[in-house]
Amino acid sequence: MARPLEQPIFVQAVKEVITSLKPLFQRHPIYLEALPTICTPERSHLFQVPWVDDEGIQRINHGYRVQFNQALGPYKGGLRFHPTVDLSVIKFLAFEQTFKNALTGLPLGSAKGGSDFDPKGRSNREVYKFCRAFMTQLFPYIGPDRDVPAGDIGVGAREIGYMYGQYKRLTREFHGVLTGKQVGWGGSHIRPEATGYGLIYITDYMLRKKGGSLNGKRCAISGAGNVAQFAAEKLIELGAKVISFSDSDGTIYEADGFDKEGLQQIMALKSSRKRCSDYVNFSKTAKYFVGANPWSLETEIDFAFPCATQNEIGAEDAQNLINKGCKGLFEGANMPSTIEAVAVLQTCKDLVYIPGKAANAGGVAVSCLEMAQNSARMVWSREKVDRMLKEIMERIYDSCEEAAKDLQDEGNLQLGANAAGFRRVADAMFQQGLVF
Ligand code: NDP
Repeated sequence: MARPLEQPIFVQAVKEVITSLKPLFQRHPIYLEALPTICTPERSHLFQVPWVDDEGIQRINHGYRVQFNQALGPYKGGLRFHPTVDLSVIKFLAFEQTFKNALTGLPLGSAKGGSDFDPKGRSNREVYKFCRAFMTQLFPYIGPDRDVPAGDIGVGAREIGYMYGQYKRLTREFHGVLTGKQVGWGGSHIRPEATGYGLIYITDYMLRKKGGSLNGKRCAISGAGNVAQFAAEKLIELGAKVISFSDSDGTIYEADGFDKEGLQQIMALKSSRKRCSDYVNFSKTAKYFVGANPWSLETEIDFAFPCATQNEIGAEDAQNLINKGCKGLFEGANMPSTIEAVAVLQTCKDLVYIPGKAANAGGVAVSCLEMAQNSARMVWSREKVDRMLKEIMERIYDSCEEAAKDLQDEGNLQLGANAAGFRRVADAMFQQGLVF
């Protein structure tokens, strides 16, 4: 097994948690005893994924499923298909998932998985063949009461469908072993929207508690995928101006904000696997910046919503945002801000920072609601699931706020999120004798 130093992003995620939790360990040293176990995955599955491309050439990708912690419920976390995926990335994501899932207050353990397969440029038939091959390797490790994967970067409704079909072929069981399924056959209403909507629900709740609102605020979004699109939809509904989207090629900017038609166009481009740069063919007012991220736009930004990927905001970007008058950074992506960026953000007392563990937990929360509907053989209405999502996001914010206050660092939601999540998992581990 690789030593920790060969897993830089996993080490970064662990460092971030341990450093921020110093006040918790000083106040309650007993929690230090749970620390090594909480930072170690319970089990890691590594497997090859052999498949044949459209040219008839045999391809081999690496597959992963890291089952991190089962103290609170079945292992739960998404699958990512992206060329940057390796064991370090999957361990970091599974570790983050431990705290996020605990924060939801729902019965969810933590896991993450995926492959270095790159769906970009692959035909639908190739994606289908890869998904089948991936599930053929993964299926022995998962089950509705054991481990329930979902989507993440590169894994949307299409991929979940192909994988679910293969799971059924192999097991002859129709049960809730994957979430993010289509609503017609076991999916939940609001699951596609949940991470983006949840991000805006928690932001809106925090602002309303402080006497503010999103109305008229200039919001910069990175990414143009699932999380970015539905965060934008909710922001526009609440009267905010969404001024950017991005992908790995560059940033598209609308000075007066994307309207509903503009957002529909971004959604259409992405579902037909086109690029943000293609948006300039639709709008005369849009500007495209090759290779740039939204944080470097020469414009005022009230709030930033990173919704693309890890480490997309460095210290310089964080300082840029503060200089532009940014008053809030709310993470839709997992760990989009580096440790150095978070340190810069925390120098600005007027800026609210909500880490991804809390801010993007809406997706997994609705996944848990999907599991509940599957177990009960029920379909809940869109309104009911949306209402439950909103309540969960508000509860998450309150628990982070209270945990920070309890540790005498009011307003430090990084500490609050880590402390509230850590305590829930550690308490369960002590009670189950998993740490003694
Ligand atoms: P998608 O695959 O739907 O979209 C990802 C978007 O981010 C794409 O626009 C992609 O552009 C862009 N992107 C990816 N890598 C980079 C990069 N290195 N630089 C710039 N842009 C990049 O994924 P999701 O929207 O589902 O996920 C986005 C983030 O949210 C991830 O961090 C994920 O872990 C997190 N998240 C997702 C949840 C969900 O329910 N989907 C739940 C909780 C967190 P391109 O097409 O060029 O790659």
